[in-house]
Amino acid sequence: MICPKCQQENPESARFCGRCHMTLRFTCPACQHVQSHGNQCDRCGVDFAKYISMLQFQMESDARRERETRRARQNIIRQALLLPVTGGWSLLRSIKSNLRGE
Ligand SMILES: [Zn+2]
Ligand SMILES: [Zn+2]
Repeated sequence: MICPKCQQENPESARFCGRCHMTLRFTCPACQHVQSHGNQCDRCGVDFAKYISMLQFQMESDARRERETRRARQNIIRQALLLPVTGGWSLLRSIKSNLRGE
């Protein structure tokens, strides 16, 4: 494989040019197809840069969702801790009124 940048002859299996370290082989992030350019996948047509930024966006929104789930869980815990004060009191009152037959 000849390096497109410096014309150095490289073994077919080389991932990088031995002379200028230019990337000679790109692996598709979607289908793992290996090819000599990093623009668009020859097999599945995925745009490498777009796909990678989409993956990053997905990871970010996953992290955001996880944060929100954690916050919601903390709210439930807080409410459970406050239950003896708020819910417990009204529960006690409703039991009392039930006993009185109201
Ligand atoms: Zn080179
Ligand atoms: Zn692909």
